Amino acid sequence: MKLLMCLECNDIFNLDLSEKICSCGRSKGKYINQQLAEYTGKSAVPLGFSNPSFIQAIKDQPNEGMGKEFTAFVIPKNCETFFRK
Ligand SMILES: [Zn+2]
Repeated sequence: MKLLMCLECNDIFNLDLSEKICSCGRSKGKYINQQLAEYTGKSAVPLGFSNPSFIQAIKDQPNEGMGKEFTAFVIPKNCETFFRK
């Protein structure tokens, strides 16, 4: 799952085929197709969730105590499937 963070307003949001914009309007992005996504904005940081680990963490959500961790990562500046426009 691809997400975008805006370092100006701290919004983090998932992407869709129609363009999404953060609260302050400086970061925006969208999926071009099922694999490719693009974003714009100097303050935009591309993020990824490992889908299998995220789904497993939801399934294993504890009732109390520590939360269930999953894998999230900052996507490289040069990435063929999620790139700055
Ligand atoms: Zn913003």
